[in-house]
Amino acid sequence: MDNKELSRKHLEKIKRIASEINREIKIMEICGGHTNIIMKYGIRDILPENVKLISGPGCPVCVSSQHDIDCMIELAHKGVPVATYGDMMKVPGTKYSLQDAHAQGGKVFEIYSATEVLELKNKYPDIVFFGIGFETTAPMTAFLLQNNVCVYSVHKLVPPALEILAKDDKINIDGFLSPGHVTTIIGLDPYRKIKTPQVISGFTPEMILRALSILIELIYENRPVVINGYPEVVKDKGNQKAMMLLDKYFKIEDSEWRGLGVLPMSGLEVREDSLNAKIKFKDIIEKVEYVKKDTCETCNIEGVCEDVKSRARCGEILLGIIEPGECPLYGKECTPDNPIGACMVSEEGSCSIAFRYGK
Ligand code: SF4
Repeated sequence: MDNKELSRKHLEKIKRIASEINREIKIMEICGGHTNIIMKYGIRDILPENVKLISGPGCPVCVSSQHDIDCMIELAHKGVPVATYGDMMKVPGTKYSLQDAHAQGGKVFEIYSATEVLELKNKYPDIVFFGIGFETTAPMTAFLLQNNVCVYSVHKLVPPALEILAKDDKINIDGFLSPGHVTTIIGLDPYRKIKTPQVISGFTPEMILRALSILIELIYENRPVVINGYPEVVKDKGNQKAMMLLDKYFKIEDSEWRGLGVLPMSGLEVREDSLNAKIKFKDIIEKVEYVKKDTCETCNIEGVCEDVKSRARCGEILLGIIEPGECPLYGKECTPDNPIGACMVSEEGSCSIAFRYGK
């Protein structure tokens, strides 16, 4: 059977089971990569009416807190060379982005791989790497720590966020389409304590439909288990080598997520004080004001400009409560060329994806 026929078969199964579940079924996809494929191939439009796919906080730059960005900008302003991935450059802090800090003369380097940071370290021994992302990118940051690069870590862990979302009765999620890349590293065990049906999915339209067909069956049978729907790549125990590296160089601590607030034990902090930029440059960082006065009353998210802040709804986007088109700034004041919120900056942000593919 080719992929087209397989996809048709999965869709038929989804339709058959959904017709027997006589209510709305809410499924959250966590990974921005999944949102991309779902939107690009119009998967939402072919699902039965009572199956609703909503996007979760799976875009790494979107969930990085404004205060952490402000701290990195301040380091750059004080002459500390800093490096980070391209997507992070445009994300607005309170007043500026790292791209602005670069334009203002700061040594801010946009990199595409960890090895570029090692090259930069030869020229700038004090360089600080802004480590962002989930369990997928954290091993690369651990590799940099192993090579004595100083790191400001805002790495986040996916399962603690899922645990909180699963219990949120404002969202009422029936099942999670869980991230394939993250699970390649952590394996299935960390998801088992979340008592909501979950299926790990790969990144083709056929794989997503396959995972959805398994997930809808779990929801119908009321089985809150996690199934590996991406066995081609994901091993049940994950990547033990990568996990050992993470454990050696990071400790798990509470972490602030944009839109979600501080989530307990949901972030990776650098173990070694001498390589932890938050400690090494404490004198600079502790002077960075923690801006609360700009918090938007609508979505409880900080850092959008004064005149539009009360209308930006990024927090609700990150929680999957509304869709991008429901934000009054979407496509007007807020576009990929002029992003107001982080969800419009990254290619994995829900608003940016919706802008690219429609709706
Ligand atoms: S359109 Fe812009 S301001 Fe509105 S939710 Fe999306 S990123 Fe935030």
